[in-house]
Amino acid sequence: MSELFDGKEGTQHLLMGNEAIARGALEAGVRVAAGYPGTPSSEIIESLARVADKANMYVEWSVNEKVAMEVAAAGSFAELRSLTAMKQNGVNVASDFLLHLAGSGTRGGMVLVPCEDPGALSSINEGESRYFARMMELPLLEPGDFQEVKDMVKWAFELSEELRMLVVLRSVTRLSHASGMVTYGPLPPREATARFRHEGFVLDPQEGVLISAPVGYKHELQQGKIRKAREMFENSPFNTYTGPEKPEVLIITSSACTLYSKEAVHLLGLKDRVGILKLGTTWPLPVNLLTRYLSLTDTIFIVEEVIPFMEENIKVIAAERAAEIGIKKFYGKNDGTLPMVGELNPDFVIGALCKILNIEYKARPDEYTQAAQNIPFTGEAPHRELTFCPGCPHRASFWSIHNALELDGRKGFVCGDIGCYAMAMLPTGFSVVKTVHAMGSGSGIASGFGKLGQFHFDQPIVAVCGDSTFFHTAIPALINARHHKADFTLVILDNSGTAMTGFQPHPGLDVNALGDTVPSIDIADVCRSMGARVEVRDPFDLEETRKVLNELMEDEEGLKVLILRQICTLSPEKKAGKKYEMSINEEICIGENCGCNRLCTRIFRCPGLVWDTERQVTKLDEVICIGCGVCADICPAGAIQRKEAGIS
Ligand code: SF4
Ligand code: SF4
Repeated sequence: MSELFDGKEGTQHLLMGNEAIARGALEAGVRVAAGYPGTPSSEIIESLARVADKANMYVEWSVNEKVAMEVAAAGSFAELRSLTAMKQNGVNVASDFLLHLAGSGTRGGMVLVPCEDPGALSSINEGESRYFARMMELPLLEPGDFQEVKDMVKWAFELSEELRMLVVLRSVTRLSHASGMVTYGPLPPREATARFRHEGFVLDPQEGVLISAPVGYKHELQQGKIRKAREMFENSPFNTYTGPEKPEVLIITSSACTLYSKEAVHLLGLKDRVGILKLGTTWPLPVNLLTRYLSLTDTIFIVEEVIPFMEENIKVIAAERAAEIGIKKFYGKNDGTLPMVGELNPDFVIGALCKILNIEYKARPDEYTQAAQNIPFTGEAPHRELTFCPGCPHRASFWSIHNALELDGRKGFVCGDIGCYAMAMLPTGFSVVKTVHAMGSGSGIASGFGKLGQFHFDQPIVAVCGDSTFFHTAIPALINARHHKADFTLVILDNSGTAMTGFQPHPGLDVNALGDTVPSIDIADVCRSMGARVEVRDPFDLEETRKVLNELMEDEEGLKVLILRQICTLSPEKKAGKKYEMSINEEICIGENCGCNRLCTRIFRCPGLVWDTERQVTKLDEVICIGCGVCADICPAGAIQRKEAGIS
């Protein structure tokens, strides 16, 4: 039984924030959901896919976020409710279509859920979608707790239908990936009918065509919708105030920062001195409501994560209404009260409130601190570096790439991309990756480097991308490279799934999000159809991989593709069986006198190999070694030995 779908109305359930988003969508009667995997958003589409059959939904992992939004938009145009979910970077990818969609409007309720990552816990930037909502003139909602997550998603669909425009509902890691109790509402009937009406008057929003032109007319219409949203937000139950009638300080906050602010006020015992205005509707801002609360005090403290979006927009309102509400003193990010980068937590809010109110706070009593200091120090926790998993094919691939570049000797380098393999910037990937930007950008940048020959550029260029990234955005860059005769080698690290985010399927596989068998698209065929030379190898065959890479770098001009195919170590199939039983012959191991002073544990660094400091030999960690066998080819002394599993 799926608790997400079968849980009864009125019952309470402990849900992860992303599951609460999915439940809210189910209660709203969502029929189409599409997304591209990315932490912290992936569980929304995964949760919906699991109950798609019962709920009469269509769910897909699209090839990228722009296509996901287009697929969801089709559902809305056919008068169904639709949802698209992605991480913050996905909104950048989708933004081209987003701008047009904002202008054309929607029919069935449509909600975009960007899940953002303040502090970049699982990202390589702290992108913000709030400014996209403002730039595209779309309503923006930000839930502040788990019940509200679910309820607000449901309301977002109603709002979208009332305004006939896409509604953005922003989550962050601490909501998406934390859990809280949620009371279920009713589910709608299962039946739904899709129909795209297009035969009415051309400008009729329900019966005409869907386009953002004539621009003047549609833009004015859109602004009218945003004005209507602002009026609705003035009385929204998702904007709440708690605190005294005349607070000394007014905190204005939203999203997960609501929880941090409440906890800070509680721990400091300031509920009679500090008020909290929690905004659930953060664009367009409810001007009259804000004017009312700004009037309560002259000291305003704005608590939000990443860019000071609310702070700057609220200051505009305060300036416009200054004659009415007086001059305010603002605390927030712009004056350094809160940091401009990184994730917040209650400690940041506590520290700021202490400074603003000139009070002292000790998180623990002196006796506790004293007792903690008196505990004898028993040694450091073992250091754990950012590294590929034991037996990860990427380690083997980058070992060969590194060796090929070294042997080539022309100071070649790797243009990296987004995925686990971005870690090849670090020693775990032998530091061969020198650029990492957006998805697919490794190939695009390599395409640019590959045209610098006329300026005496003679360094070999290798780009890398994963199999999912290949379909996501590398293909246009490769077409560009082939068409312009750019000279580089693309290594596709094909580990058979979107591994970093949890093995979601992509078009290279014969299964979809719903578990159905579907046609797969062969990466090698796609590359060959562009006219590229294509080689396919097993990255665990180190010498053969190195050899073919050197050949590709030296022998041919133009676009060359090497597909290194080996399933991810963490995939269920791989976990099911060991290929090799590994052992180390300690009599042969020469330790510090080996290669670069212990080639296996100092340079190759598979976590399955451990240096025994007492006995001065390498040991095998049999618990985590997956028996890939690669390290047997690393050891120059032949001390690491493998035999086929199951052969005695
Ligand atoms: S066989 Fe060697 S390289 Fe493979 S997981 Fe085990 S220790 Fe690591
Ligand atoms: S196991 Fe092999 S590579 Fe590792 S330290 Fe011993 S001799 Fe060197």
